[in-house]
Amino acid sequence: MITAGIDVGSVSTKVVLLVDNEIKYLVRPTGWSPRYAGEQTYHELLAQVGCKPENVAYRVGTGYGRISLGFIDKAVTEIHCHARGANYLVGRGGLVIDIGGQDSKAILINQQGKVIDFTMNDKCAAGTGRFLQVMAAALGVDVSELADLAAGRNPLEINSMCTVFAESEVISLLAKGADKRDIIAGIHRSVARRVWGMASRFMPAEQVIFTGGVARNHHIKDQLAREAGVPVIVPELSQVAGALGAALYARELAEKC
Ligand code: ADP
Repeated sequence: MITAGIDVGSVSTKVVLLVDNEIKYLVRPTGWSPRYAGEQTYHELLAQVGCKPENVAYRVGTGYGRISLGFIDKAVTEIHCHARGANYLVGRGGLVIDIGGQDSKAILINQQGKVIDFTMNDKCAAGTGRFLQVMAAALGVDVSELADLAAGRNPLEINSMCTVFAESEVISLLAKGADKRDIIAGIHRSVARRVWGMASRFMPAEQVIFTGGVARNHHIKDQLAREAGVPVIVPELSQVAGALGAALYARELAEKC
């Protein structure tokens, strides 16, 4: 059986095809049109895998752009898709922390991957991937370079909670001659503290499963591990956890049909 999960996020669109138990996936920028990004990425992956659209048994959409997708059979919330995908990748439940482009979520799941409780920040860019993107742009580096630049440095205090003010703070630290790498370390600490401030209410948990695009940043992972005091696991497919969860829901729903 082939089922599909389509996760249209603010920054990137992730599609997973579950071909029996094999995971095929594709990540593309969302750009200006969530609908177009969802359709294009889905059809591009189908072509890569050599699968005709009519051979897909069921399609589940998730992410902020799910409502714009005309070709899906059902939409499922990001919380449930991320929980399901994370538990499939890691197992044994725990606390899932997902940091994406425009929000961050903390989801407590049991050993079967069922959601026990959750909280999310989708009101403020601080503590999200957007904050890191804005700061990287202000410092003239790419987001993918941030973690290596921060490692082993002395984090400078970034006091502003607001992204716009924090950007001004970074620019004035630069003007005062502060080392860029110490500023970047401070930016990481600010993101990790903000997210942990939201997630820590669900501790104790046996493990933290870190997903979303920001899980590619190993320095944020290290900062979270320091706060958590339990292993922080970043699954290899962390960025597509939500799309994988959607594809797993699709398989369950197809089997019920
Ligand atoms: P969304 O689901 O909201 O589209 P993602 O989960 O795809 O967001 O995460 C996007 C964020 O991931 C970006 O804002 C950026 O901060 C971060 N990111 C993306 N690629 C990388 C990378 N190579 N290294 C570090 N961080 C990255």
